[in-house]
Amino acid sequence: MANTASKLFVAGLMAVLPASAGNGNHGQAAQANAPEVVVGAAEPERRLIVAFHNYAGVSRETLERAESEATRIFDKAGVKVEWLERAVSPEAAGPSVDELFPGVPVCFLRLLPDSMLNKFQRPAGELGFATGTSIYVFVGRAQRLSVVVTAGIPTVLGHIMAHEIGHVLLGENSHAPGTIMTSQLCEEQRQRAAWVRLEFSKAQAEKMQRHVPIASIGN
Ligand SMILES: [Zn+2]
Repeated sequence: MANTASKLFVAGLMAVLPASAGNGNHGQAAQANAPEVVVGAAEPERRLIVAFHNYAGVSRETLERAESEATRIFDKAGVKVEWLERAVSPEAAGPSVDELFPGVPVCFLRLLPDSMLNKFQRPAGELGFATGTSIYVFVGRAQRLSVVVTAGIPTVLGHIMAHEIGHVLLGENSHAPGTIMTSQLCEEQRQRAAWVRLEFSKAQAEKMQRHVPIASIGN
């Protein structure tokens, strides 16, 4: 499977291209040099970058499936989530997210193993939390929950990530039953079919869209 981070890096480069490269397409040179993706990348959309550190060592396959689950939920709410994996090692950090995606809203997600749980004084059983633009997801707890609810770790992880990203855009006191923002995500009887029905309400989607303005880059 293609590397998500590199795909995003390409998308980032496209996003900072001058508008003429994406929208013009008049000159022969521009046409010859501009792959189709440039045209798509230049279309106005509400983008949110999720820069993440995979401290928990979640496998590439699980991660991509979890990202797909969360992306699908946000697509329905009119917000295009893009995933950018950041190096866990500070020495390999590379350019900042601001440099890669200037002007695009960003939140920072950390996937944490059980060994890092002690650093956080959080309630037992909590699957993750968000503060400001920072999100913390407790992967060990998600894995144990996925066994109990038979929903599969990508489904569980994807929904937890979507829920916590939702908190960044909607605020801390934004729990709402019957939506992805339910406070009962860890309710043990949930089967996969119940999980996949969870999404943002129309009102939640509209509120999030106000926080994620249409990107002006490339237009
Ligand atoms: Zn919550």
